[in-house]
Amino acid sequence: MTESYDITIIGGGPVGMFAAFYAGMHNAKTQVIESLAELGGQVNALYPEKTILDVAGFPGVKGRDLIAGQRQQLEQFPLTIKTGEAVTNVTPNDAGFTVTTPKGSTQTRAVIVAVGNGAFAPRHLNVENETALAGQHLFYSVRDLESFRGHRVMVAGGGDAAIDQALMLEPVAKSVTLLHRRAQFRGLAHMVDLLQASTVNVQTPYLIRGLEETAAGEVDVTLKQVGATAATTHQVVDDLIVSYGFTADHSALAAWDISMAEDHRLIAVDRQMMTSVPGVYAIGDGATYPGKSPLIAIGYGEAPVAVQAIMSTYFPERRGPVHSTSITLKP
Ligand SMILES: Cc1cc2nc3c(=O)[nH]c(=O)nc-3n(C[C@H](O)[C@H](O)[C@H](O)COP(=O)(O)OP(=O)(O)OC[C@H]3O[C@@H](n4cnc5c(N)ncnc54)[C@H](O)[C@@H]3O)c2cc1C
Repeated sequence: MTESYDITIIGGGPVGMFAAFYAGMHNAKTQVIESLAELGGQVNALYPEKTILDVAGFPGVKGRDLIAGQRQQLEQFPLTIKTGEAVTNVTPNDAGFTVTTPKGSTQTRAVIVAVGNGAFAPRHLNVENETALAGQHLFYSVRDLESFRGHRVMVAGGGDAAIDQALMLEPVAKSVTLLHRRAQFRGLAHMVDLLQASTVNVQTPYLIRGLEETAAGEVDVTLKQVGATAATTHQVVDDLIVSYGFTADHSALAAWDISMAEDHRLIAVDRQMMTSVPGVYAIGDGATYPGKSPLIAIGYGEAPVAVQAIMSTYFPERRGPVHSTSITLKP
């Protein structure tokens, strides 16, 4: 028999996770389907060690800790969590939708699409040896700050994420070099000020032309000064972190049987977070409307809106009180 759910949440990033908790609080039979091996979306995959400053209630919280807290929060309810499973199709039927993954199909009354930017992958350096050094000396994010303790680290990139990583490594690493191909950084003025006040060794404008592992197990980075005729130079470090941003791929959604209206390649939603397909809602970074910002706090606000809209539309008899204490606290 096909498993059947009230709500299926596609995408287990911070926003999908919060929607799952909220659906659980409203007693909805809910499944979360996440394509990565772990829940947590961009926060867990790209910046688990970063201290996030703009989540209400936390003066500062590490990405990893925020996701661990969310995981604990949603485990209060008997939700079905499926990881390592990408949704490949959503097909309308008389009772709602069939949701398909490579592992099979399930039935659901309503869908919440919380796919963020879709499948994301880091932008690569495109130099020889890149694949061989990846995971050994070459990284695309800081997953475990302690693993860089006492190391000479080079961060390549010019955006907020690159500056953020350089500053995060500063108190832990033996030395940090931040390399950028332009003289000016793209990061926020505040971040650039922090960088200038730090001990991070800033080198601009330089490009990485090659990587070689030395006999001592270090990385010899070949550098070329942009616009200069001088030959290349070399810098030996223990680790290189490439922070050239990420490519996002929403194209998988185009293959689904439902066709959701888009705005600038994001899913357009109304004030109840409903897409152009009745019964399908979208929240988080993947959804857009006038005034939208791709932030965790914004997505957290969208999740209850979508869940409440679903409950009042499809399960009005089960629609409960709005405040959590009225729902979860036993008399
Ligand atoms: C370097 C960096 C720093 C940031 N710093 C901050 C910050 O300080 N404060 C802040 O508020 N925001 C910050 N952000 C933005 C924040 O991470 C996003 O707003 C947030 O992750 C959005 O959450 P989400 O759940 O909508 O999407 P995501 O986190 O992108 O999660 C979406 C999930 O859906 C999954 N998925 C995609 N397609 C499918 C499919 N077909 N089937 C199943 N699963 C699928 C993906 O694998 C992913 O896990 C930062 C982002 C980056 C990259």
